[in-house]
Parts: sequence; structure tokens; C-alpha cells
Amino acid sequence: MRLVMLGPPGAGKGTQARMLEQKYGIPQIASGDLLRAAVRDRTPIGLEARRYMDRGALAPDELVVRLIEARLEEPDARRGYILDGFPRTIPQAEELDSALKRHSQHLDHVLAIVVPDDEVIKRISGRRTCRNCGAMYHMIFDPPRNQSICNDCNGELYQRDDDAEDTVRMRLEVYHAETNPLLSYYEQSGILTRIDGIGRPEEIQQRIVDVLDRLRARA
Ligand code: AMP
Repeated sequence: MRLVMLGPPGAGKGTQARMLEQKYGIPQIASGDLLRAAVRDRTPIGLEARRYMDRGALAPDELVVRLIEARLEEPDARRGYILDGFPRTIPQAEELDSALKRHSQHLDHVLAIVVPDDEVIKRISGRRTCRNCGAMYHMIFDPPRNQSICNDCNGELYQRDDDAEDTVRMRLEVYHAETNPLLSYYEQSGILTRIDGIGRPEEIQQRIVDVLDRLRARA
């Protein structure tokens, strides 16, 4: 099963994608995680991408496409995957379509998690990320057992620079301008479902699983 998760920053794409990863045994592939790893490892792509990420802008399509295409070639992605944060622009979606076509594959479904802007800002300002494994917490809605330590791996929790409020507003603007058009793009292909992103993570997961179950029953 090949899925794409769309939605503004803070919509819960990562949380939902990780839950789907557990449920269906296919990897979550997050372009943001791949880019942050490249920044951490100081690769040429990381050094270039960092200039955009720090101010909440999108990294150039060509860099992100290179990272994603390499990741999709890995053996664990053969049976399917959940793309989280990619594609984010129409050219990225077109590149993904061409790559899939080259392998005689297609996307099964695109899930767009819908969350209003003011909710996004509230959610992101409390968000903390594990420096080691990438797990995410919210200081109010999903606090770690210890203020600054990851429950899963004991890694250090930190607030990403791009989670500061001004940068979040910028990321939302970018989302509306660059990524929102993807909803019509995939709607035209008949593979998009909008999911209400308000509620507990388990409730939202259930909405997604209901959609996927219905699709599988039709297949
Ligand atoms: P995320 O973790 O998905 O919120 O991504 C963090 C940052 O990485 C974004 O604000 C962008 O600067 C960059 N990024 C992640 N995915 C993409 C993408 N598909 N295209 C361009 N930039 C991206």
C-alpha cells in the first residue's frame, strides 16, 4: 500500500503515519526527517537545505526529490510506504508520479488531514522533538514522562528552530501557497480523502483506518 499524508505543519501527519506504520508494517518516510538527518550529517544536500529550513521556507524540489527517490529504492519500501511531508509542491507530485510510473506502480491513496491555522499554532508551540529518534511530544497534550527526555530512547527533547511562532506562521503561508494546490491535484485523480484532524490521535487514526478499510473492501 502506497499512501501520502498531506496537511499543514502540526496537523498530526507524523503521529498518524507512525501509527499506520505499526498497523500495516510499511515504513513511514518523512521528508523532514530525511532533511534533518542530512543537516545533522552535514551532507551537501543538508548544508544547502538548511538555509531554507531555518526560515520556514521549502527546500528546493530537486534536493528533496533526490533524497526521497533514494529512500524509496531501499528494500523496506518495496511493499509500500507512507509518505509524510512529501510531496509538498505540484512539481514534487509530478516527479513522484513519474518515478512510480517508471516502476509500474501507483499511489493507492492520499489522506489530507484538515486542521485550522489557529489550532496549528497552538499545537506547534508546545511541540518537542527527540534529537535521537525523532519522536514527538506536546508539553500539554502528550507530555513526556520526564520534561526533557524521550520516553522511547532517553534521547534529549528540544524545540525545533522552525517551531518558533513566527516561523510557524511563515510555514503556514508556504503551506497555503505551495501545498494546498495538491489537494485539487489528487482530487482530480480521485484518490484524495479529507480527514478531520481535530480530536485525539486514536480517534483520527480510526477515521483514517475506516477510509482505508472501505478502499480495501472495494479493491
Ligand atoms: P517537516 O518536518 O515536514 O515539518 O519539515 C521541516 C522543514 O523541512 C520544512 O519546513 C521544509 O523547510 C523542509 N521540507 C520538508 N519536506 C519538504 C518537502 N517535501 N519539500 C521542501 N521542503 C521540505
